[in-house]
Amino acid sequence: MSDCIFCGIAAGSVPANLVRRDDDVVAFRDINPQAPTHILVIPAEHVDSAAELTPAHDHLWARLLHVAQSIAEDEGMEPEGYRLVVNVGRNGGQTVDHLHVHLLGGRQMTWPPG
Ligand code: 5GP
Ligand code: ZN
Repeated sequence: MSDCIFCGIAAGSVPANLVRRDDDVVAFRDINPQAPTHILVIPAEHVDSAAELTPAHDHLWARLLHVAQSIAEDEGMEPEGYRLVVNVGRNGGQTVDHLHVHLLGGRQMTWPPG
């Protein structure tokens, strides 16, 4: 997806404040953070959204969550906790159509989300 900003970040052609990178998963700091720590965890491969996940993505999805968990520990969000958010589609508030998990922490989260 040549016009996808997150594909650009995954490929290294768009600058980002990277936290992790391996062959499958890339994590970087959100450009407009909504919490003291706000990191996006994405698959290197383009997937439009969580609505497009298939059983073939099961391993990739588990990897995204494990990387998020590991970063949360590294960023000192345990044992206080943190929030993982996946916005899906327009009503879900998704604005970038490349699957991403928001990792938010460093403050008390509220419920329900807006
Ligand atoms: P969504 O609303 O799709 O769930 O989340 C997209 C997130 O990507 C937003 O929190 C937004 O601030 C972030 N974002 C959008 N463009 C860029 C960018 O070019 N670089 C970074 N680091 N974050 C971005
Ligand atoms: Zn993409």
